[in-house]
Amino acid sequence: MPGRPPGDPAAALRDARAGALRRLGGLTGHVDDLVAASAGSNADDEHDPEGATIAFERSQLGALVRRERAQLAEIDAAEARLTAGRYGWCEVCGRPIARERLDVRPTARTCVACAGHASRGAVAGRLRR
Ligand SMILES: [Zn+2]
Repeated sequence: MPGRPPGDPAAALRDARAGALRRLGGLTGHVDDLVAASAGSNADDEHDPEGATIAFERSQLGALVRRERAQLAEIDAAEARLTAGRYGWCEVCGRPIARERLDVRPTARTCVACAGHASRGAVAGRLRR
């Protein structure tokens, strides 16, 4: 992030929001194109190879759009924490989150140690299923 002084979470969140909105705008523009393309082609997904491709691309895009929307929700939550004076404190153990982690991931809710526990738990959960 050129031009941004280190340790400015409000600016980092603005940058993150601008990036997510830019990606979302590009994605939803693309989704609209695909919807128009499939509406015009009278596509049958099972027999029309192009229709199947459009359906596949649409589902891939849907996942990307959901990811960007989730990111925006995280940014909203982080800005709310900033306003409330709770930004930068781990929601699990209550200790401060390292500055370097917030620089990389301004929406972080937990410190590195707690995030590590959480993601190891998620991996274990997936393996059990
Ligand atoms: Zn923690």
